[in-house]
Amino acid sequence: MTGPCAVCGRYSYLEAHHIVKGRGKRRECETKESVVYLCADCHRGTYGVHGRDGHALDVYLRRQLQAAYFSQGKSETEVRRLMGGKLMLDDNGEVYRWTKFR
Ligand SMILES: [Zn+2]
Ligand SMILES: [Zn+2]
Repeated sequence: MTGPCAVCGRYSYLEAHHIVKGRGKRRECETKESVVYLCADCHRGTYGVHGRDGHALDVYLRRQLQAAYFSQGKSETEVRRLMGGKLMLDDNGEVYRWTKFR
């Protein structure tokens, strides 16, 4: 599958990335929002979500997903379940709910 990468927008061959992972969690937590399509660099490159320096991108994608769920009106309990049992916090330690990229 080719198309624009969800992170950098480059037109490329895309790989599916499951934002919520962990043993037994992938299926239970999978929604159409929880799978994003990334180019090889954004997926497996050094700064890619699975790369050596990819932590920031991983946090970014999880926060965006969580904010999307809240924007759909889901309860905190439901969002916590879909996030694999743990909610993402913002830089002030509050539950991350909003994105400025909407
Ligand atoms: Zn990319
Ligand atoms: Zn992945």
